[in-house]
Amino acid sequence: MYAITCDNCKEDLGAYSDYSAWADKSQVEDDAENSEWEVFNGTHYCPNCYTRDKDGNVAIKNKPKK
Ligand SMILES: [Zn+2]
Repeated sequence: MYAITCDNCKEDLGAYSDYSAWADKSQVEDDAENSEWEVFNGTHYCPNCYTRDKDGNVAIKNKPKK
Protein backbone atom coordinates (compact mmCIF):
# COMPACT_ATOMS: atom_id res chain seq x y z
CA MET A 1 0.00 0.00 0.00
CA TYR A 2 1.04 3.57 -0.60
CA ALA A 3 0.52 6.69 1.40
CA ILE A 4 2.13 10.09 1.09
CA THR A 5 2.94 12.89 3.46
CA CYS A 6 3.63 16.52 2.73
CA ASP A 7 7.35 16.99 2.15
CA ASN A 8 7.17 20.32 3.92
CA CYS A 9 5.05 19.90 7.07
CA LYS A 10 4.72 16.09 7.10
CA GLU A 11 0.93 16.25 7.07
CA ASP A 12 -0.67 12.99 5.94
CA LEU A 13 -2.68 12.99 2.71
CA GLY A 14 -5.16 10.81 4.62
CA ALA A 15 -6.15 13.91 6.59
CA TYR A 16 -7.40 15.45 3.32
CA SER A 17 -8.88 12.40 1.65
CA ASP A 18 -11.52 9.74 2.18
CA TYR A 19 -8.68 7.21 2.13
CA SER A 20 -5.62 6.66 4.27
CA ALA A 21 -3.75 4.20 2.05
CA TRP A 22 -3.73 3.50 -1.67
CA ALA A 23 -3.12 0.39 -3.72
CA ASP A 24 -0.62 1.94 -6.11
CA LYS A 25 1.43 5.03 -6.67
CA SER A 26 -0.62 6.44 -9.54
CA GLN A 27 -3.78 6.26 -7.42
CA VAL A 28 -2.22 8.05 -4.50
CA GLU A 29 -0.88 10.79 -6.75
CA ASP A 30 -4.24 11.19 -8.48
CA ASP A 31 -5.93 11.52 -5.13
CA ALA A 32 -3.32 14.02 -3.99
CA GLU A 33 -4.04 16.19 -7.01
CA ASN A 34 -7.80 15.83 -6.45
CA SER A 35 -7.24 16.98 -2.86
CA GLU A 36 -5.40 20.08 -4.13
CA TRP A 37 -2.02 18.80 -3.17
CA GLU A 38 0.88 19.69 -5.44
CA VAL A 39 2.80 16.74 -6.87
CA PHE A 40 6.28 17.38 -8.27
CA ASN A 41 8.87 14.80 -9.21
CA GLY A 42 8.64 12.52 -6.21
CA THR A 43 7.66 15.29 -3.81
CA HIS A 44 4.25 16.24 -2.49
CA TYR A 45 2.95 19.38 -0.83
CA CYS A 46 -0.31 19.89 1.01
CA PRO A 47 -2.51 22.93 0.25
CA ASN A 48 -1.12 24.73 3.31
CA CYS A 49 2.42 24.53 2.05
CA TYR A 50 2.37 26.05 -1.39
CA THR A 51 0.93 29.00 -3.22
CA ARG A 52 0.29 29.31 -6.92
CA ASP A 53 0.46 32.71 -8.57
CA LYS A 54 -1.73 33.89 -11.44
CA ASP A 55 0.78 32.52 -13.93
CA GLY A 56 0.56 29.06 -12.42
CA ASN A 57 3.98 29.16 -10.79
CA VAL A 58 4.15 27.20 -7.57
CA ALA A 59 6.03 28.56 -4.56
CA ILE A 60 6.65 26.41 -1.52
CA LYS A 61 6.10 28.11 1.80
CA ASN A 62 8.58 27.91 4.64
CA LYS A 63 8.22 25.04 7.02
CA PRO A 64 5.82 25.82 9.83
CA LYS A 65 7.45 26.11 13.23
CA LYS A 66 5.90 24.10 15.98
ZN1 LIG B 1 2.27 20.68 4.19
